[in-house]
Amino acid sequence: MIFEGLNEKFQNIFSQLKRKGKLNEKDIQEVSREIKLALLEADVNFKVVKQFTKNISERAVGQEVLNSLTPGQQFIKIVKDEMTTLLGGEIERMDFVDGRRNVFMLVGLQGAGKTTTAGKLANLLRKEKKFKPLLVACDVYRPAAIKQLEILGEELNIDVYSEHDVKDPVGIAKRGLQKAVAGQYDLVIMDTAGRLQIDETLMAELVNIKEAIEPTEILLTVDGMTGQESVNVANEFNRLLNISGVILTKLDGDTRGGAALSITYTIGKAIKYIGTGEKLTDIELFYPDRMASRILGMGDVLSFIDKAQNMMDEEKAKKLEEKLKNNIDFDLNDFLDQIKQIEDMGSISSLLEMMPGANKKALKNVDLSGADTKRTEAIILSMTNEERSKPGIINAGRRKRIALGSGTKVADVNRLLKGFEQSKKMMKQMTNSNISKKGRMKLP
Ligand code: GDP
Repeated sequence: MIFEGLNEKFQNIFSQLKRKGKLNEKDIQEVSREIKLALLEADVNFKVVKQFTKNISERAVGQEVLNSLTPGQQFIKIVKDEMTTLLGGEIERMDFVDGRRNVFMLVGLQGAGKTTTAGKLANLLRKEKKFKPLLVACDVYRPAAIKQLEILGEELNIDVYSEHDVKDPVGIAKRGLQKAVAGQYDLVIMDTAGRLQIDETLMAELVNIKEAIEPTEILLTVDGMTGQESVNVANEFNRLLNISGVILTKLDGDTRGGAALSITYTIGKAIKYIGTGEKLTDIELFYPDRMASRILGMGDVLSFIDKAQNMMDEEKAKKLEEKLKNNIDFDLNDFLDQIKQIEDMGSISSLLEMMPGANKKALKNVDLSGADTKRTEAIILSMTNEERSKPGIINAGRRKRIALGSGTKVADVNRLLKGFEQSKKMMKQMTNSNISKKGRMKLP
């Protein structure tokens, strides 16, 4: 679960706060101290932590909280605001250049995820922006890098420019760009070489590539699991290349939060995308406010909707949207449909963790990931039509029969029904927070 440690700690801190009626200065100091410890433990840069806790305590001790009728809530709001600011504030979207070719240069240490991200990004932008992308393999040092990009290109059906047995990345970059001009590609993504550590020769080479191709974006790919040491790396890349933004990868792992929370404040550059898994669709545009919500355990319904929209078959999504809009109840048939589609999006628990108040313990109960899909399908297919459309009637006797019919245990049936209830709640939230307000499921 993303930033699990931080998430849990903030939820604890917040529930203590909510229990308290009035807050005094001492309470605020105490909570700020707890927040400070939580952030330090998550490997957030010390200076960042200091500034963050200073900001929240100053605002909280001011009139904003102490005189409020709901001091706990007010305090939480301040934490959320400040965290959003820390993560980059108002959303910084990518600058796509109208009428000019978009040329991205991906840089970063070896293993940060550049090659994978090059493929993910090309795929995403082809879909979202209708670009015709070209990937260029400029990493001539890591033996398998060129092949890796070629395989990605094949898998995604995206063209790759590469030269084997040529050790001149600047030349490859230039010729890649020429191919893009000739072939009318409007998005060029250059995958460059990384080392295990920053080294002068590599940096000089990257500067040369930059000068030769004049990229519209230089995106530093940073391994989100590395914590605050990534800040030093980012500083150095930024000093020499004046990067335009950061892509933070591997946010699906045991990321503690250090890199995400330290990087923008320290180098003054926005995180533009995040990588959230090994699949080629696991990339998201970065929204500071949504990420703050996720870190603080408040959920992120909007990202869920984006993800669902990216993955879902448009026809089915439309039907579901209609159904939700018209307040027709979400039943087990829809649930089964969803599960089949969601199989491609990652586990249900990874989606549910975007829901407000999700916590690891609760999610354990509703883990219907991967291997469980077949079993889930079998259980639902063992139900009668009436049971599927009115799950409320599934009593103990019926559960036993369904378990027997599907070759599963009653506990499995129970778990599925619980997962269904969670999903149903989630759908309701989507309806309330989005569809009804905006008329349709669309980005803000
Ligand atoms: P490069 O050396 O910077 O080009 O890094 P690669 O693209 O080869 O990635 C290194 C490893 O990280 C590969 O095994 C990728 O599958 C993995 N990886 C990249 N992005 C992500 C991500 O967002 N999540 C996870 N879990 N793995 C990732």
